[in-house]
Amino acid sequence: MDLHENLRTVRERIAEAARRSGRNPEDVTLIAVSKTKPVWMMEEFAAVGQTVFGENHVQEIVEKYALHPEYEYHMIGHLQTNKVSKVVGKVRMIHSVDSVHLAETISKEAQKKGIVQDILVEINVGNEESKYGLNFEEAPETTLLISRLPGIFVRGFMCVAPYVADPEENRPLFRRMKELSVDMESQKSDNILTEFLSMGMTNDYMTAIEEGATHVRIGTALFGPREYKGA
Ligand SMILES: *Cc1c(COP(=O)(O)O)cnc(C)c1O
Repeated sequence: MDLHENLRTVRERIAEAARRSGRNPEDVTLIAVSKTKPVWMMEEFAAVGQTVFGENHVQEIVEKYALHPEYEYHMIGHLQTNKVSKVVGKVRMIHSVDSVHLAETISKEAQKKGIVQDILVEINVGNEESKYGLNFEEAPETTLLISRLPGIFVRGFMCVAPYVADPEENRPLFRRMKELSVDMESQKSDNILTEFLSMGMTNDYMTAIEEGATHVRIGTALFGPREYKGA
């Protein structure tokens, strides 16, 4: 498997999807999801300019950060409140904030460190039992509550869409995410700027970009299949 070839292919497809929908490819950030994958693979990508990585386990971020603090890390997995202190300040953005309680814990830790942590609010777009996130109905009110916390800046929304055979099935869900972000933008609160939409994975990232994704999180198409599925 040629990692650089994988990266070229993904970048080309991102550009293609962006152009097809009249968007600038540079407005889409590729997050290479390196969970469960060894550091040497990340170094291979970094050698050709891909230094933005996504991880879903706190311990893995801590270990990889110790070796490569110069890379940009995104926390994309479920975050327990008792592990918040280990990621705040180390990660560019926490994508998986799904409760006021978690947001409060992040805010306190950020204040302690004298920073403001960028976060995204996670939406359970498919209303799936197995997934985390707020549903669309509760999202606006909860997002406003979270945005009032001093150590947090709400930059937008994230979702893990259902695993589907045909990515077209997820298009209406991605569209709803975009509508939610436009609605929230009109609320104009101080600590909130819902410009980012983190959506789209190996299976459906082109569709997500066509519907407005600003961050796509891609693992398998870059690193190959994982030995075990990360939670
Ligand atoms: C594992 C994971 C991804 C990447 O999934 P692929 O299908 O391998 O591209 C994206 N987002 C989250 C939250 C993940 O846990």
